Amino acid sequence: MRTFYNLIGKEWVGSRSGKTFERRNPANIDEVLGVFPRSDAEDVGAAVDAARKAFREWSETPAPVRGRILREIGELLRKRRDELIDAIVKDVGKTRRDAAGEMKAAIDMCDFMAGEGRRLYGKTTFSELPKRLAMTRRFPIGVCGIITPWNFPVNLICWKVFPALICGNTVVVKPSENAPMAASKLAEVFAESGLPEGVFNMVHGLGEEAGEALVRNGEVRLISFTGSTEVGKRIATICGERLAKVSLELGGKNAAIVLEDCDIEMAVDAVVRGAFTGAGQRCTATSRAIVQASVYNRFLERLVEETRKLKVGHPEDESTVIGPVNNEEQLNKIIRYVEIGKEEGARLVLGGRRLTEGIYSKGLYFEPTIFTDVRPEMRIAREEIFGPVLAVMRAESFEEAIEIHNSTSYGLSASVFTRDVNKAMEALDRMEAGVCYVNAPTFGSEVHLPFGGMKDSGAGHREVGFAAIETFSELKTIYIDYSGGVQNVQFKRD
Ligand code: NAD
Repeated sequence: MRTFYNLIGKEWVGSRSGKTFERRNPANIDEVLGVFPRSDAEDVGAAVDAARKAFREWSETPAPVRGRILREIGELLRKRRDELIDAIVKDVGKTRRDAAGEMKAAIDMCDFMAGEGRRLYGKTTFSELPKRLAMTRRFPIGVCGIITPWNFPVNLICWKVFPALICGNTVVVKPSENAPMAASKLAEVFAESGLPEGVFNMVHGLGEEAGEALVRNGEVRLISFTGSTEVGKRIATICGERLAKVSLELGGKNAAIVLEDCDIEMAVDAVVRGAFTGAGQRCTATSRAIVQASVYNRFLERLVEETRKLKVGHPEDESTVIGPVNNEEQLNKIIRYVEIGKEEGARLVLGGRRLTEGIYSKGLYFEPTIFTDVRPEMRIAREEIFGPVLAVMRAESFEEAIEIHNSTSYGLSASVFTRDVNKAMEALDRMEAGVCYVNAPTFGSEVHLPFGGMKDSGAGHREVGFAAIETFSELKTIYIDYSGGVQNVQFKRD
């Protein structure tokens, strides 16, 4: 068992209090993966200080040079790809295939943001006064606090850190306590790279201790948070009080709308993948299938048949599709929601149980679960479960399907399955979700496009792609007067 440390400046250090926490492998809870510093406000303060000291030099480094350093980090990520995949598999419980997908997304973001170093465009425009240039330029914000969940422990850090760094910010990352090993391995890559000391810092710890200390630290000018809506609201309140910029990527209750004219086999395949790969532990997992009445029975029959074929198993086993749930709290939440579903009168047609026998005895495994006869007012139709549980709902018409779709407080991702271009376009207009797909699963974002949710899935910001540049930079408006006199629009007579 290895002891891991915080990365503060170029130093690997324990918590000043000496407190630690351990992380266990969800596929074998007897295996302790490592011991990590349980940091407090003092440790966070030291990391913020290191980031603050590094800010001036890094922010004044030309952006194309920052881009070159990012490219070197990309090379290191490629070199240590297999090691990082191993860490993700053990820490999260993800299959090797899913972990490789996560690494691809992390490296893609590095490549994309390295190129942004030669863009970071502002705008130039005309002034209403003669001999005057008007323009905007992008500047970094300062020290950014980055707080991430466990389900994509490498990718989500990369999706925030690379845009933050290319814009000239320095960062303090507080990764999830439920996947700290993969995050630590990622920190090793940053430490090994040519990044100047203090530009990238990582502090481990619990959310309400290290996480909240980062949010409350007055030197941190931006908090970028991905996690639950409940914690996101708390963070937004604290940031609001001290006027720090805050970007939130929160929960979802994503739906696939299956219309009667669609290719049913394709819709079944996409819904099965969307709902159950990664054990449903994606913010963009399909947790509702809204199916038009005329194809409801046919869709359901094939859905159950295909879901039955999915192998729940050890993440290292190549035939496994569904690995363990990441942590006990999450597993208990899934069990609780299955009970709620039954009590509410939904019909459990598949799964619904924790698996504990034989190969499952040491891990946190749960069967893929399907409820039918789910009505929009039920809690299992409205609340995020974050596990392999799918609620199937019947809609009499296209109109009703859209109404059901929009009946939750979330709005992260959505799919519509149809061959009718008019219906597809109207669904795209009306589905309240930040990321929408036609004839595809509810997940699969690409790094050059924005990502984020509406309603309770976010607070209006977008990260990823070109939108991340907006989030991680500050715009300065600049006027340059070359008239030789003092002129001003507010002195000017009409
Ligand atoms: P969580 O909200 O419990 O924790 C997320 C992070 O916040 C962790 O690092 C945690 O330590 C920290 N934290 C907890 N309390 C805090 C506090 N008071 N102050 C500061 N930090 C605090 O979420 P989780 O269980 O790790 O992850 C699952 C959730 O993340 C789901 O709701 C899922 O939908 C969401 N998620 C969203 C996206 C997205 O892009 N929208 C992506 C992945 C996951």
